[in-house]
Amino acid sequence: MPNNDDELRQLRQLLEIPATKEWEYAVRLLLRLVGEDPNRQGLRRTPLRVKRALQYFTAGYRMDPKRILNRAFNVRHDEMVIVKDIDFFSLCEHHLLPFFGRCHIAYLPDRKVIGLSKIPRLVEVFARRLQIQERLTTQIAEAIEQHVHPRGVACVMEASHLCMMMRGVEKQNARAVTSSMLGLFRTSEKTRSEFLTLIRSSLSS
Ligand SMILES: [Zn+2]
Repeated sequence: MPNNDDELRQLRQLLEIPATKEWEYAVRLLLRLVGEDPNRQGLRRTPLRVKRALQYFTAGYRMDPKRILNRAFNVRHDEMVIVKDIDFFSLCEHHLLPFFGRCHIAYLPDRKVIGLSKIPRLVEVFARRLQIQERLTTQIAEAIEQHVHPRGVACVMEASHLCMMMRGVEKQNARAVTSSMLGLFRTSEKTRSEFLTLIRSSLSS
């Protein structure tokens, strides 16, 4: 069994790793760096599993929000549309650790609405990437604004971050709340407070 230094040296020398082996080498290197033996029974299939998991967690890079939101249909409805309590899972781009929680989205249609099921799918497009919560929140709101052209959009996300929770006991219950308010949700106090009242029961105290 090669020791860590040997394998690390070998990996550094392998400047041209065949494409089919990239994940295997990357994960094996990571395992060596944390002090593990990648050849150990329990870790043998870990590179393949990590590859599949990471590809799934980042599938959003290969999804196009336009394709999800392009089926807007015309209606007379001009009241606020709200979809609450959408579960989401993402990876923080600073530590590659999960952050996860719930998302509440509203928009004020301008004669065009989208199917309600499209909204959780849109959340997936941006959550399944390396993210920071602030940008994730903004991207979701801006995608609806850009493709549905409503009079306003609101997105509120509350999440627990494992990179905070796993370090320091005092932060274990910390939850981050971010919001993005566009159009009437930004300019009209009345619209914004109507939305916040409607999602209040869902927001954790
Ligand atoms: Zn982090």
